[in-house]
Amino acid sequence: MKIYWTKINKIIEETAEVRTYLLDCPEGFTWEEGSHTHFALEGFNAGDKPNRGLIRHMSISTLPHEESIGITTRIREKCSEFKSILSKLEVGDKVAIFKTHSNVPLKRENKNVYLLSSGVGLATFRPLVLDYFECADNVNQIHSLNIDSSQDFLFNTIIKSAPERKFIAQFVDNRTDYYEEVKYLAEDKDGIFYIVGSDEFLVQNMEVLRDQGIQPDQIMLDKREKGRNELVSSVYPEQHDLVETK
Ligand SMILES: Cc1cc2nc3c(=O)[nH]c(=O)nc-3n(C[C@H](O)[C@H](O)[C@H](O)COP(=O)(O)OP(=O)(O)OC[C@H]3O[C@@H](n4cnc5c(N)ncnc54)[C@H](O)[C@@H]3O)c2cc1C
Repeated sequence: MKIYWTKINKIIEETAEVRTYLLDCPEGFTWEEGSHTHFALEGFNAGDKPNRGLIRHMSISTLPHEESIGITTRIREKCSEFKSILSKLEVGDKVAIFKTHSNVPLKRENKNVYLLSSGVGLATFRPLVLDYFECADNVNQIHSLNIDSSQDFLFNTIIKSAPERKFIAQFVDNRTDYYEEVKYLAEDKDGIFYIVGSDEFLVQNMEVLRDQGIQPDQIMLDKREKGRNELVSSVYPEQHDLVETK
């Protein structure tokens, strides 16, 4: 496993609680849209074992041509030790990234794509939307639905409706309206549904999609195969039987 040490080159205050840390691209480091990485703070590998308290999974919120690796995260006043240390870092400080992988690249299958997220989950989708804006080949349209009660929408220069580009950005401020809307979007029986958020959020979304007849192969989760199978089979028991009998 290669650990890339790099430096923070800019810190963007996206909203009151959300920051994007832009990191220099280390030589040889590449990624594609929808990637996540292991983001680690100095000292994480100082002992015999890696200190997990200094490592977090983070999506990369930029595309390679932007020439910086973007890490977007919410830092509340009451936060973990990891976020507390991160919040004190400055431009020029060192951080590490490793084990980078995309489970959710943009599918170009001539279908409608739905991006379902909550709050800062939008960070995972920013590069998918940018990729689509740069080349819409074989994607019919994209509709992003995000729950955000702050009214302080993230990435509002990019994640904004653009009918001429067949892109809709929709924000709702509560879960009831959100799941009503998911139900409505799932009337598209041939769509591809990306979901980003906590496991609880993924399960709740999948339950709504399942009840509308959406099949697991239409659902994209930011999970490796094992984690995905576990979650999907908890919502689609028949999938569980398929996995078990394989
Ligand atoms: C594939 C993948 C991609 C991910 N991508 C991203 C991403 O792009 N951006 C991102 O932000 N996260 C991302 N995550 C989640 C990330 O890894 C962290 O789990 C998440 O940011 C929470 O961080 P934290 O544990 O440092 O807790 P915090 O964010 O600090 O806290 C979590 C919650 O607990 C509360 N809390 C924490 N400590 C205290 C305390 N001492 N007292 C009271 N309340 C407290 C906080 O207020 C907050 O509500 C991703 C996860 C995965 C698996």
